[in-house]
Amino acid sequence: MLFPTRRTFLTAATASLAAGRYVSAQNPPISTTKLDENLYLLGGSGCNVVAHTGSDGVVLVDGGLAQNAAALAQAVAALPNSSPVRTLFNTHWHPEQTGSNQALGMVGVTIIAHENTRLWLQQTITWPWNGQKFQKLPKIAQPNKTFYDKGALDSGIRYGYISDAAHTDGDLYVYFPQQNVLAVGDAAYGKGWPVVDWWTGGWIGGIVGGLQRVQSVANKDTKIVPAQGPVLSFSDIAAQLEMYGTIYDRLNQMLNKGHSPTEGVAAKPAKEFEAKMGNPDEFIRRSFESLWAYLSPDA
Ligand SMILES: [Zn+2]
Repeated sequence: MLFPTRRTFLTAATASLAAGRYVSAQNPPISTTKLDENLYLLGGSGCNVVAHTGSDGVVLVDGGLAQNAAALAQAVAALPNSSPVRTLFNTHWHPEQTGSNQALGMVGVTIIAHENTRLWLQQTITWPWNGQKFQKLPKIAQPNKTFYDKGALDSGIRYGYISDAAHTDGDLYVYFPQQNVLAVGDAAYGKGWPVVDWWTGGWIGGIVGGLQRVQSVANKDTKIVPAQGPVLSFSDIAAQLEMYGTIYDRLNQMLNKGHSPTEGVAAKPAKEFEAKMGNPDEFIRRSFESLWAYLSPDA
């Protein structure tokens, strides 16, 4: 997956907003799906975006890539009973989640994130495995309301920290009790193998722990919205937990025998899942590295 620089996107999105028009040539169509009363799933901006409409303004979970911020804003404005966005959640710091931060921060929207997410957005990050660089966000685009454990909005919408470090060390969930919908960002994946961003805290053990936490927040009828791919059911989460638990155990055994990430990949510890999930090599390598990073923080 490509991650062009955040600043490039922000500049483009802000310029188009400031000019009072939208750059349609590069904006993708945003799909809108009704999840339940007052709750919509917007696709096509870089990640799944959940939009809640109500008398106290629109609440968004994640904001897509900055290059798509203007298109996303248009789609939100076109929702039934739409009103100005008042609250934006960042499920974690990645560009797919934080691309609307600048445009919405400039108009005074409350941007809620875990404190660790704010800390990552304050610094320029370079992934060691591919050299990918992410510019820090300007102050106006940084989360302006952070938390450590959990919280709730006046409307009853609840949010909390996924402290297992499933994807980063700043993952959060947002739960809509009236609709029984749970948005979990990249703590669960709807398609393909997850990105294991161990540089900012994610690890394979956290994927397992995060899925268990999702189960504990959800119930059998909850619709679970990942950042990527289709909406998941409670049993989908159980199946993922089984799979990642199996892979985690195998990698742990190899690590304990002193094997390297390359040997870990060669051993094909995800072989029975490849037909459904695709080539796992990148995921296995990052997962193996994540065990090193997690288990030997001073290495
Ligand atoms: Zn992510």
